[in-house]
Amino acid sequence: MRKLGLNLGKYCGETLAVPAYFADLAAAAQAHGWRDVSFSTTGGKLLPAYFRGSAAGERPTIYISAGIHGDEPAGPLAGLQLLREDSWPAGANLLLCPVLNPDGLAGNSRENPSGVDLNRDYKDPQSPETQAHVAWLQTQPAFAVTLCLHEDWEAQGFYLYELNPDARPSFAPAMIAAVAPLCPIDLSPEIEGRAAAGGIIHPSVEPSSRPLWPEAFHLLRHHTRLSYTLEAPSDFPLSVRVAALVAAVRVVLAAFPK
Ligand SMILES: [Zn+2]
Repeated sequence: MRKLGLNLGKYCGETLAVPAYFADLAAAAQAHGWRDVSFSTTGGKLLPAYFRGSAAGERPTIYISAGIHGDEPAGPLAGLQLLREDSWPAGANLLLCPVLNPDGLAGNSRENPSGVDLNRDYKDPQSPETQAHVAWLQTQPAFAVTLCLHEDWEAQGFYLYELNPDARPSFAPAMIAAVAPLCPIDLSPEIEGRAAAGGIIHPSVEPSSRPLWPEAFHLLRHHTRLSYTLEAPSDFPLSVRVAALVAAVRVVLAAFPK
């Protein structure tokens, strides 16, 4: 499989018809019994969120987010596909935030309308979207694992970041193995300026090393001890990128009681 050669200096591939996408999302969530736990910014912008599970007992919660970068449509589409497939572990609760930057998605722009990269705004949030998201996260239980779905317009293939400070059993090799038949893996020894091996990057978890916190770093500091950021290569067909993200998420879902 070869790159399409569409992305010249930025993502130039397919975009989403956002109103139709939001309608599809709400319909799929409702059809499969998810609770709408969407939240709003101070300016009244709705950020969609859905919950599936039970408040009873000590079930672990799996958190999945996407669409924090508006020029990365595969993550929101992967969230929709997972909702439609409706194949979830019975032994876990699920929280899905499929579009953290709705205006960016509508405009095919990485940043929000004020030009803020929301995925660099989590240390001292300035944007309405990140402020609302951080406040909403504070109302949620701890997460057994978090999955942030992304794309990289320059990538040679799929790769992922793992934040796993307690050296828990890693999902990363199994995720790479599950994606490999569907989508090329970026096997570069260095990706985005960080050392990589087999498509897996372990960034520093030291706060002082990260002046601009991405969502995953905020999640690790306050909500989880195991965090993955999945990066699909956006110069490949959209269907390939969606399939790659879905396959990687499925590896994690399969580890929880059925
Ligand atoms: Zn991204």
